Amino acid sequence: MSSPTQFRIIIVGGGIAGLAAAIALRKDNRQVTILEQSRLSTEIGATISLQPNATRIIQQSWGLDNLLDDSNGTIDHGFRIYNIDGKMVNEIPLRYKTQYGADRIMWHRQDLHAYLRTMATSTKWEGQPATLRTSSRVSSCDCEEGKVTLEDGEVLEADLVIGADGIHSVLRTSVLGKEVKPKPTGFSAYRLMLPTTVLNEYAPQFATNIKPEEPYTSMVMAHSCRLIMGPACDAQLYSIVGLVPDERMNEDPDSAQSWVTKGDSGKMLETFKDFPSWTQDVLRNADSIGLWQLRDLDPLETWHSGRVILIGDAAHAMLPTQGQGASQTIEDAEALGTLFSHITERPSRDEVSSVLEDVFKCRFERVSLIQQFSREAAKPATEQGSNVIKMRPDEFMDYNCTYRGVRDWEEKRSMAAITAGIQTVAVA
Ligand SMILES: Cc1cc2nc3c(=O)[nH]c(=O)nc-3n(C[C@H](O)[C@H](O)[C@H](O)COP(=O)(O)OP(=O)(O)OC[C@H]3O[C@@H](n4cnc5c(N)ncnc54)[C@H](O)[C@@H]3O)c2cc1C
Repeated sequence: MSSPTQFRIIIVGGGIAGLAAAIALRKDNRQVTILEQSRLSTEIGATISLQPNATRIIQQSWGLDNLLDDSNGTIDHGFRIYNIDGKMVNEIPLRYKTQYGADRIMWHRQDLHAYLRTMATSTKWEGQPATLRTSSRVSSCDCEEGKVTLEDGEVLEADLVIGADGIHSVLRTSVLGKEVKPKPTGFSAYRLMLPTTVLNEYAPQFATNIKPEEPYTSMVMAHSCRLIMGPACDAQLYSIVGLVPDERMNEDPDSAQSWVTKGDSGKMLETFKDFPSWTQDVLRNADSIGLWQLRDLDPLETWHSGRVILIGDAAHAMLPTQGQGASQTIEDAEALGTLFSHITERPSRDEVSSVLEDVFKCRFERVSLIQQFSREAAKPATEQGSNVIKMRPDEFMDYNCTYRGVRDWEEKRSMAAITAGIQTVAVA
């Protein structure tokens, strides 16, 4: 039972966005409930990285300095780029700690997920812990009343509802009053995860070239396809993602989309037939290949309505080419935590709605640009260079990684607006 003054928050979706929002919002006199449709017994077998803009928030703003030790994460030391003949043509060391004050960290998704879940629900952390309800699928939401209806008919009410229900979000339809479907982007990703011992035994040439125990992200680049690879779980596992244009897969672009669809190894081998022979050894020996058909969203007209706001992929799904999808969900969560920090007692609908508008205003421009840049970066080099993105990739990396939370962002934006105003007056 909640007390009459307690601030009640429902988060729909227990993915990275939902769990991060629960961490950011947990506080005394707040009741945070996460509703997750699955039983959370399995997570997708793949690696995921967080960039310095997100690791800084977790470690420094939220004070979770146990992030690396308690989550089995690996600091990425750099990128190794191979050409189609299998020669390493570039090694770019990552000096993010000196450059941006925080690291890029890689995980098995399961490990990052488990860590965030513990931090959201543990009694050992400050503030009232969140409650996680699994097997609780939300089927609709009344944004004005803050009421969510579960598939079994149960209705739950909150002062604030957060839609962190991923790319196929149900809450997005409630917030926008219409259905907005994710867009095919023309790309798909094969993914494999193999024990490093298997690689050493069955693909020794691969292991000699790539050195899978070393904490580097390796990429083999061709005109329209690329392999992106890296270690996870203390280098016991090695992850390989093959980014390919959809037409190379002969898949039906309208078929149901899922993160757990099985890939066809024959098709994958055919697609990567011009890649170095040592990469083929791995593809031939993989007994389970997953397939992601990559979809994203155009920037939405709004993320909020009444007591409800969308965050994460529900609000701004993007291509993985900048590795920023999950990092942007951490930024969303930080913005919610910071902008609601002054609200300690049950807020009115108008108070909630006004903060949600602030969150949207602070986040929308930055996330939309990163969405656009992620699309741009997926195109073959010859087609890159849109009219919209004026920054070079290294400038964009600075733009992504120097973010220091919503207050700092707002300050910088106001300063930029004042400077622009002064220049306009001077010109006039
Ligand atoms: C190939 C690929 C590689 C990627 N690599 C990276 C990377 O290296 N770094 C990075 O930052 N990002 C990466 N991303 C993107 C990143 O995975 C996503 O942006 C991020 O996981 C989004 O988190 P989310 O919580 O918003 O959504 P999700 O992870 O999809 O979580 C949504 C949750 O909501 C639950 N749910 C859905 N509907 C309901 C409902 N109706 N009721 C209750 N629960 C519901 C789901 O079961 C799920 O648990 C990658 C994506 C792809 C496709």
